[in-house]
Amino acid sequence: MTTDFFIQVAVPSPLRRTFDYRPPPGCDQTGLEPGARVQVPFGSRRMIGLITGTSSNSDFPATRIKAAYKLIDQDPVLDDKLMQLYQWAASYYQFPIGQVLQTSLPAQIRKGNAAEEKQTHYWQLTDAGISIETTSLKNAPRQLELLELIGSRKTMTSAALKEVVGKEVSSVLKTLLEKNLIEQVPHQTVAKGNWQKLYRDDEPLQLNPEQEIALTAIRQNNDQFNVHLLEGVTGSGKTEIYLQAIADVLALGKQVLVLVPEISLTPQTLRRFERRFNRDIAVFHSGLTDNQRMMAWLRARNGKADIIIGTRSAIFTPLAKPGLIIVDEEHDASYKQQDGFRYSGRDLAIYRARQLHIPVVLGTATPSLESLNNALAGRYHYHRLTERAGNASHPDYRLLDIKGQELREGFSGALIDIIRSHLAQKNQVLIFLNRRGFAPLLLCRDCGWIATCPRCDSSYTLHRNPPRMSCHHCEAQKPVPSVCQECNSTDLASMGLGTEKTEQTVKDLFPDIPVYRIDRDSTRNRDALHNIIEKVDSGKPCILVGTQMLSKGHHFPNVTLVAVLDADGGLFSADFRGQEQMGQLLTQVSGRAGRGETSGEVVIQTYNSTHPTLLSLVGEGYAPFARKLLEERKLGKLPPFSYMALIRAEASNQQLPIKFLSEIVNDIQAGFSNVRIIGPMPSPMEKRASMFRMQMIIEADKRSWVQLFLHALITRMEEHPDNRKVRWSVDVDPLDFT
Ligand code: ADP
Ligand code: ZN
Ligand code: ZN
Repeated sequence: MTTDFFIQVAVPSPLRRTFDYRPPPGCDQTGLEPGARVQVPFGSRRMIGLITGTSSNSDFPATRIKAAYKLIDQDPVLDDKLMQLYQWAASYYQFPIGQVLQTSLPAQIRKGNAAEEKQTHYWQLTDAGISIETTSLKNAPRQLELLELIGSRKTMTSAALKEVVGKEVSSVLKTLLEKNLIEQVPHQTVAKGNWQKLYRDDEPLQLNPEQEIALTAIRQNNDQFNVHLLEGVTGSGKTEIYLQAIADVLALGKQVLVLVPEISLTPQTLRRFERRFNRDIAVFHSGLTDNQRMMAWLRARNGKADIIIGTRSAIFTPLAKPGLIIVDEEHDASYKQQDGFRYSGRDLAIYRARQLHIPVVLGTATPSLESLNNALAGRYHYHRLTERAGNASHPDYRLLDIKGQELREGFSGALIDIIRSHLAQKNQVLIFLNRRGFAPLLLCRDCGWIATCPRCDSSYTLHRNPPRMSCHHCEAQKPVPSVCQECNSTDLASMGLGTEKTEQTVKDLFPDIPVYRIDRDSTRNRDALHNIIEKVDSGKPCILVGTQMLSKGHHFPNVTLVAVLDADGGLFSADFRGQEQMGQLLTQVSGRAGRGETSGEVVIQTYNSTHPTLLSLVGEGYAPFARKLLEERKLGKLPPFSYMALIRAEASNQQLPIKFLSEIVNDIQAGFSNVRIIGPMPSPMEKRASMFRMQMIIEADKRSWVQLFLHALITRMEEHPDNRKVRWSVDVDPLDFT
């Protein structure tokens, strides 16, 4: 008698389970391995799924189990370890495994396309390109840059060049081709000639003692799982340590995975890696086409790519011979996905490093309290870089008390004088205001009416360029009214400050100085930010006005003054992470100043110049400040001294979400005395995009207790008669409570 054989398949369905199938016709058990794709019937459709396991029995009646249509991969596309990572993540973050795979695999893999590299063409230098006098191209920096890049590497594809240089690459390549300096070949070859001598900074730097200690520790036992927290102010030489640690691992023939926050994956960052390593670097960012993403993914999987750099989702990149994971700016909120599959890329990096027995380095100037706590408790190796590398010095902080002061659109007279003096010395100035748009309110001066979004509990933000009112919570846009909608008065005024208004104010105050605004609106176009940064890099006096985008990744060596217009928002945030986030943001923004030879000054305007939190941050710096916050968290039994999950429920009917959550909690609560339940209660923004929102916080001393509770909760929610009328979600280790 033949035994039965079933495969368990993850298909993109919202159900939190896998589905059983029989092998496809004509297919014996060989090749039906976890990680291979199969095409299966699902309802009335054909779907591509991934095999997660096999078994000789099924909980379903054998007669009702259908056969899969066909096996797509002879060899699994995902190896055991990666499958295990996906399955663990699906279970920990309580998200359906099929959708986990759906959101993190390259589109072409999901669609069932063959997992093989297509023929690509590579650029290499011609003899003329090798022997050209570089001075003859001194007026064509783009061309020279491309020649350098192609010449320094074996060969490069257009796609790889585009990753480093940006969109304009095709026209420059065309010019170089016409000049007969480069040619296309079908295979990768070894570079002819020696272009590397052109690179100023491709040699490892001599490390200072603190850097040396950190690198030595990372080097030791680098064939084992270890977590290193590398805490160093901006400019203290963290990246230099990454580069040297990477060099070690590459020399062993292994690959390195580097995670960076969304916004900091800039051409500058990439160029730094390109210049140091004559290696294949695969880059994952949101601007890739499906095909580019697939090719980069395959190069990582088959081991051709030595270094893989990407944002959050790159943590799921298959690696043939993993050796090291680096998470830069580990505190950055963009590592946590805020919708759907709400995983933390940083936390999964630690899971993955443990699973692969390799080290992981978490680098930042402002450690998250989670990582700091682990480091202080001895679970992580803790390395601190307290000096700035090279000879740049620390900025000086100054609090400007603006109580009772007359302000000109947010600027005190004292601040204007300080800005003027920095500009007079031909320096650059950075002005930070974490609110985009022109003004956060449009108000009627006769009756007090405020323009609010009808779909959200929120006012419209006024924008000038182009003129519109926009809701920053549901993205609704409306023309700016000319009369009050309550009393028809024409006396409408904008209230409060946004970056657009500040840009205007600064232009009025300093009409001869160029002003550049950096926020989500001014940088929608991918090259816009790049262009602004190039102008700032030229070193001429200018003023930068921007939001938290300014705090990430970019270095402005000629900025000598950072001015924070309003530091008070974060002090009184309702969210228990508010002060931590404020401290990180202010420290990161301040870190942009004085990277060059000149030391910087940071001036913070506040109405609360005696607030202990602010004084601690400004007087002692982030490290002591963070330790104080950690003490407070411990007293309050808040994360990282407890574990949380946030349950959200929303519906267009206001009563439904509260009824739904309350009924379920009342049902199961009794069985879970070790779990604290806060709520259900309205979300801080109860109405958003026409949905009424409720939430509930689950808190416990152990992760496993939260997990057990969530499991029971989700089972109940799925069985509840209103399950389909209420849109609910589960956020494990939530960062955002809005
Ligand atoms: P971080 O990543 O901490 O911001 P970087 O590694 O980018 O710091 O270093 C900041 C600057 O200092 C860079 O220009 C880098 O080339 C330089 N630098 C780093 N380490 C050294 C060193 N040991 N000696 C001299 N310059 C260094
Ligand atoms: Zn009115
Ligand atoms: Zn809205």
